[in-house]
Amino acid sequence: MPAKGVAVTADVVIAGGGVIGTAIAWRAAAAGLDVVLADPAHGDGASLVAAGMLAPVSEALFGEGALLRVNLLALARFPSFAAELEQVTGHRVGLRREGTLAVAYDAGDYAALMRLTAFRRLAGLEAEELDSRACRKLESFLTPDVHGGVLFPGDWSVDNRRYAAALREAAAAAGVRVVRDRVAAVLTAGGADGADGRVRGVALAEGGEIGAAQVVVAAGSWSGAVDGLPAALRSVVRPVKGQLLRLRHPDGMPPVLTHTIRATVRGADVYLVPRADGEVVVGATQEERGPDLTVTAGAVHDLLHDAMSVLPVTSELILAETCAGLRPGTPDNGPIVGEAGPGGLLLATGHYRNGILMSAATADAAVACLTGQAPAPEWEPFGPGRFGAGEAAR
Ligand SMILES: Cc1cc2nc3c(=O)[nH]c(=O)nc-3n(C[C@H](O)[C@H](O)[C@H](O)COP(=O)(O)OP(=O)(O)OC[C@H]3O[C@@H](n4cnc5c(N)ncnc54)[C@H](O)[C@@H]3O)c2cc1C
Repeated sequence: MPAKGVAVTADVVIAGGGVIGTAIAWRAAAAGLDVVLADPAHGDGASLVAAGMLAPVSEALFGEGALLRVNLLALARFPSFAAELEQVTGHRVGLRREGTLAVAYDAGDYAALMRLTAFRRLAGLEAEELDSRACRKLESFLTPDVHGGVLFPGDWSVDNRRYAAALREAAAAAGVRVVRDRVAAVLTAGGADGADGRVRGVALAEGGEIGAAQVVVAAGSWSGAVDGLPAALRSVVRPVKGQLLRLRHPDGMPPVLTHTIRATVRGADVYLVPRADGEVVVGATQEERGPDLTVTAGAVHDLLHDAMSVLPVTSELILAETCAGLRPGTPDNGPIVGEAGPGGLLLATGHYRNGILMSAATADAAVACLTGQAPAPEWEPFGPGRFGAGEAAR
């Protein structure tokens, strides 16, 4: 690891070491590029807070067709990416393919679920309608009060903390060097405003520069704070707060869940994601509160209340952790992946609710850009150019 403040050079500098930046770093190094990843911290980002759902189907909402297509591409890529990661590191990342059971608490919740299910079926997605009894056959601890549900077999999950740790290990093994500092600015041959000239590296917050012909900004919710981005991109990514709980089974208690449960309880959404090691993740709020990371009593109460409404046995689990993270949101809920502004500058940010899911496919797209190839066509709608930032010439 280079010492802080010491000038280094590389082919590529990546700003941000969440799952997006680290996945890109690993694959770029595996493709033969000399990579430096800069991040002041590992662990403060959304990647370690997330629930780890890989859920293109139950995340598919009206009006988000292009996002659905890129999410499906991402899901299809995930198993081979995770298998290679496990093989390289020797660590399991907890990929689970049992599917997701969406349940509705009352008749109104069921009507809303049916409307969404009809839309998802129209998009060609697999969905199996189940009555209350059939839901409980799949998950015996569900309350008999559940009105009905839908099984989405195509929605999986991964243990995002194990996955992030494995990515870091794989990146290090592939030769990625890590600098524990914040990227303050992207530097260009024509000056820090990026108006002309190509990228020549980055300036670090604590002093020093890293010289590189290509820079990837993958700093999640903080991406807009990096100087030298095209002006149109500075305020496009906003933090969307999510609060979430991690529960644990008491010693000796058998698992209370097999599938991920996504429940609507009198109009409020809650999910429960089981892990092989006995953890159950319960989330999540969605709040427009800027960069606030506080955990509130109301959020903990509401999440537990809604979880217990559909799965009463939740009350017997241990409350192991409460946390909050910042989803990198964008005006159209889509990620921003592609070249922008000065030549050599690449953005990989704005993954909002699906950054864990999209990390493998994003790494493929970013490495394609870094090596002069075209990313998969599903990425076309998600370039920085849609926000008025000129795509860089190759
Ligand atoms: C409550 C919650 C639940 C979620 N659940 C899911 C889910 O189930 N499935 C899913 O797919 N997604 C989920 N997400 C979304 C997912 O977590 C994000 O989309 C994803 O983690 C974004 O990854 P990232 O690497 O872009 O950002 P982050 O993980 O936030 O990482 C950004 C990194 O950049 C660093 N950084 C910041 N500024 C700089 C700088 N100037 N220079 C260098 N480094 C910098 C930070 O220190 C940080 O480490 C959830 C998010 C939340 C908050």
